[in-house]
Amino acid sequence: MKIICIGRNYAEHAKELNNAVPTEPVFFMKPDTALIRNGQPFYHPDFSNDIHHEIELVLVICKTGKNIDDKFASKYYNKIAIGVDFTARDLQNTAKEKGLPWEKAKAFDGSAPLGESVDVSTIKDVNNINFHLEINGKTVQQGNTKDLLFSFDKIIAYISRYITLKTGDLIYTGTPAGVGKVNIGDKLEGFIEGNKMLELAIK
Ligand code: MG
Repeated sequence: MKIICIGRNYAEHAKELNNAVPTEPVFFMKPDTALIRNGQPFYHPDFSNDIHHEIELVLVICKTGKNIDDKFASKYYNKIAIGVDFTARDLQNTAKEKGLPWEKAKAFDGSAPLGESVDVSTIKDVNNINFHLEINGKTVQQGNTKDLLFSFDKIIAYISRYITLKTGDLIYTGTPAGVGKVNIGDKLEGFIEGNKMLELAIK
């Protein structure tokens, strides 16, 4: 199982970090040791003073595919979950300045919490899904998939040119604006269309 994440897939988020809006998808990976299942806490690591939350919708891949055409991409995922792409922003900024890879900032243990999923068959329009993140009961990020720079189908087609997708792989599809620091003691809750799908304590 592998975890693939799309970066800068909502224009307002790219801008808030002073990144250019990309003309083709940006992706990176996390190992399976990054995964935290719903209900497990996140233990704040001591190597960063600036762990950011990035709430994201997550595609669950349901069959093997390589060089998938846009037209058929929707057949390759059957569930959509909500997750968090935790990012050690301080380490990422250093890596960016030096032109180094992002793994230390993105792929550390516990950096990919994953909540519950919904079956795609129950969703009216995957290009119009509302999702949001609350911290300690206050909404800090909200997004809608109509604002994606690259749709789910485009992402699947693009990634599969380079990397074979397999059943059980997860694709974190990018975060809307409003990212920020988490602190020990925070309670994070992720919602799809107003339904709570993720609960996460920062310890
Ligand atoms: Mg992200």
